[in-house]
Amino acid sequence: MKHTRVVLNLSLRQSFVYKVPPEFSFQLKIGTKVLVPFGRQVLSGFVIEEAKGKQGRKNLKEIIKVFSDFLPLSDSLIKLGKWISDYYHCSLGQALHSIFPIQETFRIKKDEDSEKKILAAHKFTKLSSLTGKYGRNSSFLEKKKGVFLFRTGDNDNRNSFYLSLIEETLKEGKQVILITPEISHITYLQELIHSHYQGDVVILHSRLSSRQKYEEWHRISKGEVCLAIGTRLAIFAPFAKLGLIIVEEEENSAYKQIEAPRYHLREVAIKRGEIENFPVVLSTASPSLESWYLAKKGVYKTIGFYQANNKSPYISIIDMREEKDRILSLTLKEGINKNLEENQSVLLFLNRRGFANFLLCLECGKVLYCPNCNISLTFHLQGELICHYCDYQEKAPRVCPSCKGRYFRRTGLGTEQLEIEVKKRFSQAHVGRGDLDVIKSSLLYKKLRSDLTDKKINLLVGTQLIIKEEILSHMNLVGIVIADGLLNLPDFRAGEYFFHLLNKIRRLMKPQGRLVIQTYNPTHYAMEALKEEEDNFYRIESSIRKDLGYPPYLHWVRILLEGKVKTKIEKVAETMRVLLEKEKIDFLGPSSCPFARIRGKYRYHVILKNENLSYIREILDKKLSPLFSGIQGIKGIVDVDPLQTM
Ligand SMILES: [Zn+2]
Ligand SMILES: [Zn+2]
Repeated sequence: MKHTRVVLNLSLRQSFVYKVPPEFSFQLKIGTKVLVPFGRQVLSGFVIEEAKGKQGRKNLKEIIKVFSDFLPLSDSLIKLGKWISDYYHCSLGQALHSIFPIQETFRIKKDEDSEKKILAAHKFTKLSSLTGKYGRNSSFLEKKKGVFLFRTGDNDNRNSFYLSLIEETLKEGKQVILITPEISHITYLQELIHSHYQGDVVILHSRLSSRQKYEEWHRISKGEVCLAIGTRLAIFAPFAKLGLIIVEEEENSAYKQIEAPRYHLREVAIKRGEIENFPVVLSTASPSLESWYLAKKGVYKTIGFYQANNKSPYISIIDMREEKDRILSLTLKEGINKNLEENQSVLLFLNRRGFANFLLCLECGKVLYCPNCNISLTFHLQGELICHYCDYQEKAPRVCPSCKGRYFRRTGLGTEQLEIEVKKRFSQAHVGRGDLDVIKSSLLYKKLRSDLTDKKINLLVGTQLIIKEEILSHMNLVGIVIADGLLNLPDFRAGEYFFHLLNKIRRLMKPQGRLVIQTYNPTHYAMEALKEEEDNFYRIESSIRKDLGYPPYLHWVRILLEGKVKTKIEKVAETMRVLLEKEKIDFLGPSSCPFARIRGKYRYHVILKNENLSYIREILDKKLSPLFSGIQGIKGIVDVDPLQTM
């Protein structure tokens, strides 16, 4: 190779030609990672093809360095990268850089350990009893490809299923990736696997140092390990003969990448399974609406049946319209006292996601919603109510339009405020707070956990950040102080997020305990479904989405415009509207985002809707991109299948 095309980790969707110095010409393959000069910087890139023929430019720059400790990216991983770049509208360079996230080089300690060559399958023990349970005749083991939705809320059930699948796959000489959304859960899985498997396991997550990442990647690419456990980035572990991916808690929104490439891990896992021809198991206790829908259509095969867990905590739904005390209902107060007397721990949960700037009638429970979009209208201090999808606006009423009640107000209560209230009311309790400040500091978080274990805290006030197994497992009573904050987020998935969160709390807290939900809307279908029949939630939610043209019925592509000068952004948004009105496509907006200004930047968004993603992509590339690509003072972010629209 004399000249080669290289893609870089930039949003520019193009490749660059470099000269290959003679000493590298044999090392260089398609997929090799290299360092190249770019302007005044040195950037890393991937070789994607030989640049044949005579090169026009005389002063072509040379490749500086080759990452020779690693094999080049395999054809299938390059294929996966191309798919990510097409589907999620990012550059191939960005996609390949997330597939191979090694930025620096380190010296690898050489140790020729013959132990490692022993076949992985021989390192499994005590398992034969488990394999029988799901049987060789399950459709899964026969077909060995496709997507499987595995629904269970039962830990033992789930663990034995994982182990039997993993053993089966390793026995065939293939490799396995097990993905979990939370770093804190990796240790649990690692212990589970090690209780039956003596082989090496690679752990991959974002908190590894660059050196650790380098070494782990190296071990995989050398074929020294057969099993990887990790968070999002583990999906790209460069196994040569991958035979299975298991994605835990597939509904978890942490699987959607916030920065470019904005991929969803679940979709990438499925695509990798398709390219490399192996099965992908999506495991969950409450599936995402998307997966439920695809399983119902038969695109995914369902494994196991969902059995309501008999050992599940009792749920009480409290109608706050009938309570004198607006913060803690009688039931919750009594529950707290009883648990404190019995030396049991209590969690009071307060939503702090987003903001609570919607109007709620404290007498009849009414919340004002957009007549077009079925999301709550956001209250602005000027007294306007605004829909942040379609830009519908109206004046905020002073009295409730439905019951003429006067207590029509913004809701919002901080964790600190709640902590003070609770301390006043329960002087005998040891009150603690678990919110962002605590989670951010590993020292404070560790102290919180040990205080819970030692009962130095028995009444915890916390936000969704502490909804983790290690905290919830102490809790015998959980009180959702005001469920309406979650249910009325200005996001069409508000109901689904609520449903998953409450399901998770119920699953992780003490099974003999009690979950008290305080709300002004006790008949909301998500709430009723939690108490009665879970699938009712999916049926109702999916029919609402169908009527309104929301995912999974239509694809959404969100274009977020950011910039410091408001008028400039508004002008682009307006031009976009005019252009879109001429096209045959449904769209929402342009409108300011619910978070209208972040770090001094104004934010507007447009949402394009269509069944056919490539049709949206065409309009995007030909008509819309020129309005924001490479324009000074404007940043345009394209998010395909967005999970976040705030
Ligand atoms: Zn009312
Ligand atoms: Zn609207």
